[in-house]
Amino acid sequence: MQLGLYIDQNRCMGCFACIVACKDWHDVPAGPASWIRLKIMEKGAYPDLLVAFLPTACWHCESPECVSVCPAEAIAKRDEDGIVTVDRDVCLGRDDCGACLEACPYDAPQFGAEENAKMQKCDLCVDRWAQAKKPVCVSSCPVQALDAGPMDELRAKYGDVREAEGFTCLAPLAPSVRFKPKENAASLDLRRIDVFPRSG
Ligand code: SF4
Ligand code: SF4
Repeated sequence: MQLGLYIDQNRCMGCFACIVACKDWHDVPAGPASWIRLKIMEKGAYPDLLVAFLPTACWHCESPECVSVCPAEAIAKRDEDGIVTVDRDVCLGRDDCGACLEACPYDAPQFGAEENAKMQKCDLCVDRWAQAKKPVCVSSCPVQALDAGPMDELRAKYGDVREAEGFTCLAPLAPSVRFKPKENAASLDLRRIDVFPRSG
């Protein structure tokens, strides 16, 4: 079984509630590490313009590059639910290694500002699933832009769209996320893209 996320890009209004809730739930200190970031894309020109938002985290890929490059075997993919976890006690640190950050095309591995910071990232709220609760980003979103669950259930409920504004599905990794992409955005030129919070 593979757990994953669903994102409705038409509902997301860029309010940062998921990011704040995630930092709070996982006790991620103030600083550059944030297990969810928000990609903000401005497209088009007046009067045909829009802003698209994309919450972005670890996608718990079915074939995760991060697992295969980690020389310390600090990153693992769980058999029971496909969640990709990191053992920070085993991680060699950003200064001494950083291989996962280089390997992940989605910039999911996060590091604090401290010297030789150990890797941290979204664990899909593995602790909350154990209490039969969905991830805190899903629960905190005020407009129900997010959902999570077994990928076969998400596909049955929402369809099998693998790409969205600001997201390219890299098939060899098979990221565990499906979308309702931003409507009316495909034909508009990208004017500006930003990601918050910024990495350190
Ligand atoms: S998104 Fe990046 S860090 Fe997450 S499982 Fe995939 S390769 Fe690993
Ligand atoms: S920084 Fe840590 S988790 Fe990342 S590849 Fe190196 S040892 Fe593994």
